[in-house]
Amino acid sequence: MRPIHVIGGGLAGAEAAWQIAHRNVPVRLFEMRPVRSTAAHKTDSLAELVCSNSFRSDDCATNAIGLLHEEMRRLGSLVMRAADANQVPAGGALAVDRDGFSAAVTAALTAHPLIEIAREEITGLPPAEWDSVIVATGPLTSPALAEAIRTATAEDALAFFDAIAPILHRDSIDLGVAWFQSRYDKAGPGGDGADYINCPLTRAQYEAFIDALLAGDKVSFHEWEATPYFDGCLPIEVMAERGRETLRHGPMKPVGLTNPHAPQDKPYAVVQLRQDNRLGTLFNMVGFQTKLKHGEQTRIFRTIPGLQNAEFARLGGLHRNTFLNSPKLLDATLRLRAAPRLRFAGQITGCEGYVESAAVGLMAGRFAAAERLGELLSAPPATTAHGALLAHITGGHIETIDAGPRSFQPMNVNFGLFQPLAQAPTRGPDGERLRGPAKTLAKKRALTARALDDLAGWMDGDRLAAAE
Ligand SMILES: Cc1cc2nc3c(=O)[nH]c(=O)nc-3n(C[C@H](O)[C@H](O)[C@H](O)COP(=O)(O)OP(=O)(O)OC[C@H]3O[C@@H](n4cnc5c(N)ncnc54)[C@H](O)[C@@H]3O)c2cc1C
Repeated sequence: MRPIHVIGGGLAGAEAAWQIAHRNVPVRLFEMRPVRSTAAHKTDSLAELVCSNSFRSDDCATNAIGLLHEEMRRLGSLVMRAADANQVPAGGALAVDRDGFSAAVTAALTAHPLIEIAREEITGLPPAEWDSVIVATGPLTSPALAEAIRTATAEDALAFFDAIAPILHRDSIDLGVAWFQSRYDKAGPGGDGADYINCPLTRAQYEAFIDALLAGDKVSFHEWEATPYFDGCLPIEVMAERGRETLRHGPMKPVGLTNPHAPQDKPYAVVQLRQDNRLGTLFNMVGFQTKLKHGEQTRIFRTIPGLQNAEFARLGGLHRNTFLNSPKLLDATLRLRAAPRLRFAGQITGCEGYVESAAVGLMAGRFAAAERLGELLSAPPATTAHGALLAHITGGHIETIDAGPRSFQPMNVNFGLFQPLAQAPTRGPDGERLRGPAKTLAKKRALTARALDDLAGWMDGDRLAAAE
């Protein structure tokens, strides 16, 4: 059987290749690293995590990303299998040892007899004889290929800034000042309710920190001056520019935490650090994406109580992010309308996040494999997390396309993308009338239960199509 070609061995390409091979269709997977790297990747592993090590909440009953995890597990995801096998403590979140995770994905794909991996940069549109191709080259698609895609789509690929947060050595953090605790002592998968390191700031320290951020020397990107930031990943100094209290209501919020060194003093703000590797030797600064110059980062972050002697394993930085105007350019199964032999997957389609990128890779892989096998595979129902994400990418913004290319923005999966319930629950299990947060929670539970039911139906349909 002719192979399906997958370009890009990141989160999406790795998952797509796995899903295709699982349907007994051969795959040729092209990854340019280590021949050529990107501004953010550091290794030659497949499915490298370029910044945070978190897959976010693993709560599949009341959280949309937790639901996406669960759906992916049920769909045989390699990315979720590797994440589950390499998790590190992180409160209610699923966080992973990044090296262990990528090594597991790389090993599984390398060992698969139907997958051939080529370390090669694809610099132009794939040749016609390749036939079915999945392009999963991510937000940092190499310039030559990005230019070829831009020309083929007769559109500008869109770009915005994305930022990464610093990582510190755990033994350089002063635990005589900082302390371990998860917000509200919440214990999650692999966690014990004391997974984060917290650094407390008094009001005076917070004010001085904001002044330092505002005055600090930043990296400037003159050539991209008009490029906007993605709101879900704003650098801290940009948040500080939006208002002196913004950080205190964002990544530095002091809620759900008690300082055991001074239980009577409520911190005015708190910086949280999350375990970054299985050994527990590295911690990343949660939500501290920054474009401060490297020297300024060490100087200013060492003014945070507990971090006065901090040693940095990696400093923060800014990168460009490229994505297609997918609602206009892609069809319902992620094919380029103008050239349907080309399918797109991952962040380049306008989803946002590791898990979402892998989920779109999963769907692209299944669509491509079904097509190669001459089967009909419908899109997952819009009531599922996969279907909601796909609908956002391929149709969610259709009515605003005319407003201009920027009307379509990358999006994390969230309940706002799901089809509303026909009837939201109004009463609890004991017949009591639900109000406020209890009502919201019941609605989320109903949405996730419906999603998992509908996913099971879709998977049955998929099995039937395969059997015909
Ligand atoms: C700087 C930065 C920080 C981010 N931080 C986070 C975060 O903390 N959490 C989060 O959930 N998401 C984050 N994201 C967003 C996103 O989830 C990740 O970028 C994710 O890895 C996207 O998955 P992907 O498979 O689409 O792309 P990638 O994982 O980037 O994979 C694309 C692959 O294609 C390869 N490639 C590129 N061009 C070519 C070519 N021409 N030929 C062959 N191979 C090629 C690349 O080397 C890469 O391995 C971040 C993105 C960026 C840019």
